[in-house]
Amino acid sequence: MIAVLRSAAAAGLVLLATACTPAPGNVDWANTGNGWEEAHYSPLDQINADNVGELGLAWYADLNTDRGQEATPLVVDGVLFNTEPWNITTAYDAVTGEQLWRYDPEVPLRFGRLACCDIVTRGAAYHDGKVIIGTLDGRLIALDAATGEEVWSTLTVDNSANYTITGAPRVSGDKVFIGNGGAELGVRGYVSAYDAGTGEMIWRWHTVPGNPADGFENAAMEMAAQTWSGEWWKAGGGGTVWDGISVDPELGLVYIGTGNGSPWVRKWRSPEGGDNLFLTSIVALDIETGEYRWHYQTVPGEEWDYTATQNMVLADIELDGEIRHVLMQAPKNGFYYVLDRETGELLSAETLAPISWASGIDMATGRPIENPEARYGTVPVMVSPGAGGVHNWNPMAFSPDTGLAYIPITETYMAYAAAENYEPGRGLGTAFSGHDDIRRQIAEYADANTRSWLAAWDPATQSERWRVPYPQKGSGGVLATGGNLVFQGTIGTTFAAYNATTGEKVWEMPVQNVPIAAPITYMVDGVQYIAVNAGWGGGLAHVERAAYSELHLGKPRLLVFRLGGTAELPPLPEESFVVPELAPPPPLTGSAEQVALGEQLYGANCAICHGNAARGGVKDLRHMAPDTHAAFSEIVLGGSRAANGMVSFADVLSEEESEAIHQYLIARANEDWGG
Ligand code: CA
Repeated sequence: MIAVLRSAAAAGLVLLATACTPAPGNVDWANTGNGWEEAHYSPLDQINADNVGELGLAWYADLNTDRGQEATPLVVDGVLFNTEPWNITTAYDAVTGEQLWRYDPEVPLRFGRLACCDIVTRGAAYHDGKVIIGTLDGRLIALDAATGEEVWSTLTVDNSANYTITGAPRVSGDKVFIGNGGAELGVRGYVSAYDAGTGEMIWRWHTVPGNPADGFENAAMEMAAQTWSGEWWKAGGGGTVWDGISVDPELGLVYIGTGNGSPWVRKWRSPEGGDNLFLTSIVALDIETGEYRWHYQTVPGEEWDYTATQNMVLADIELDGEIRHVLMQAPKNGFYYVLDRETGELLSAETLAPISWASGIDMATGRPIENPEARYGTVPVMVSPGAGGVHNWNPMAFSPDTGLAYIPITETYMAYAAAENYEPGRGLGTAFSGHDDIRRQIAEYADANTRSWLAAWDPATQSERWRVPYPQKGSGGVLATGGNLVFQGTIGTTFAAYNATTGEKVWEMPVQNVPIAAPITYMVDGVQYIAVNAGWGGGLAHVERAAYSELHLGKPRLLVFRLGGTAELPPLPEESFVVPELAPPPPLTGSAEQVALGEQLYGANCAICHGNAARGGVKDLRHMAPDTHAAFSEIVLGGSRAANGMVSFADVLSEEESEAIHQYLIARANEDWGG
């Protein structure tokens, strides 16, 4: 039996209170997961299961772009700080919505090409009068919270490599921690600690070993190198820390979640196999020095993009009569892990949804019991979950009141296949076309069996307490409150509240968009508010947008609710804000050779944003409007739509190559039109 002994999140609030001393009647949300426990929980209970029916819109603000809004806002001393695509950061009066300042770091648009899963940000950090953001181009920037003026700015990456930052920085004491992304594009992952006052780097810890000829940075890298073979460093290795970071000031540890390998296919990065440490791992580092303390690898020798970067909740719970300081994570691979966060010992692990890559975890070794068929070759194999994972970045919440975790869950299936050959730094080493009959069967099975729900999960018994099914995957991150409520944005373009004990839906409001981000709650002058960003986009929309063509969306907005709120959204425009009208494609005029060249070039240059085989992406290129076809070269080479994020590719593509891609897209559009 596990029982929650004390409110870990409440302890975090006390800690923040001593640091910031909010005015009476004010309760802040000063860290992306609220307290350092990252539980996405607040003890606030003015809005509760009895009165939530009176919840209404207090105010809203239109957001900058129709790309994914993934950020968790912060509230400190009555000011709400929000971050949007391209890292535009805005401060609002948290009561009235009045804009106090707006800061644009002017991220060069070319970095949009490096963001695997949209030009998103998941939030900011707050430290001593400063709002700290990580930008898509790899800068860590501290802003004066009162004015929005830059206090310091530090470049945290080598801009000649394919790094991006989408995660929220975390703060502990005088340090700020930040990782980065880019494992789909050949980078070597790391996390760094900076002085929050000055922006100077204090330490950096790589997640995978570099070239041994350059010398290992530390003993952990030497140990990790024993689990790799060949010339892995040529493809970067991956293991990026693109989202989850949790700090534990009591134990003096910072926990990082690491991502997939670069490239995806293990034989292309480590021909002799091996565990490939520290991919897809939870790693504990010394807060002060960045020294390695322990690790738990969720997927040894990973090759399905099963990142362990998802948010890690810290709690103190009783297990078999003993108080354990635990870390809990629901990574993409489908297991719910409970670890002792002092030692890294695996305490329990069970599956949250049907999966096929492993049948369980061997508790003697902590290793998964793999299904050997999931280790794919060049013939496509259906594996569950797919690369979207059972649980992705959308934060789960944990309530110390109910002892339950609330997790956005997806059951998915995907065709995995290795490419016939691979050149370091070019692509994932996978194949997304060929063997069409097998792929069609897998796609049909996936379409028929993919489902999604909000789960209330009991870590004590490793079992589901209740679930709320959704008609389609894509619902958002979660907030749990002391009012016995769970809040979540839904794929049905609503924002909903559930009874945290029973799962009963107790409130729902149409919001004209899909709030994929995690909501927050705060109190100003004795009034409790709930806030959430509502803007569809991100990885799911990026690669499968076509599946969401029915979505009728209004503008992306920041929405703030309170009891008795009476604000109203403007009417939903007749024309959906995001999904374009479909037009029949022009007839194919290009040769078979042109189309084949176009397919190859598309895979290397375009698929990262526009989807594999042009199935979806930020803009579904199978459904280009006539004026887009006419301006294709101006767009691709001339950069005429750079302001939307589609920057010029003239540095890597010739006029002939651009036209080959155009002909390939026309061929794809004709293949799929009406089908
Ligand atoms: Ca990935």
